[in-house]
Amino acid sequence: METVVRVRCRDCDLAETYDSLRRARTAVADHERTAGHLVDWDIERLAAGVERAGDDAGVCGRDGCENPDSPLLDFGSDTE
Ligand SMILES: [Zn+2]
Repeated sequence: METVVRVRCRDCDLAETYDSLRRARTAVADHERTAGHLVDWDIERLAAGVERAGDDAGVCGRDGCENPDSPLLDFGSDTE
């Protein structure tokens, strides 16, 4: 199983799918900063070996291990 993160901009036609949390987050941050748009992103799937990436992203990445204080989860609402 691989990671699938969908990114969609509310203010333009930007719509991408990434196989990496870090790349998706970077792309979202970059677009929000450069375009000033509000970008939605949905984590469709997390790869089994995502713990390492999850550390980078501030989430655990394992089933049944929720982290409501995660900076990853907070990230999407920063600009609201
Ligand atoms: Zn946009």
